[in-house]
Amino acid sequence: MAKNRRGKGLVKVPNHGRGVCPVCNRTGIKLVWEIKDKDGEVVKVCKNCRNATPEKLEA
Ligand SMILES: [Zn+2]
Repeated sequence: MAKNRRGKGLVKVPNHGRGVCPVCNRTGIKLVWEIKDKDGEVVKVCKNCRNATPEKLEA
């Protein structure tokens, strides 16, 4: 599991783990951290938002 957010670990995931971050709405950013929203659903966010609270996902 080590370094699974880098290199070969990202090749396996769709779009190399890139997309639009649901918290900061940046596009083409690596969404490699998982946080849970208020409903307990796992949402992928960028590294800047890995500490975001579920409340931020609602905004
Ligand atoms: Zn973000």
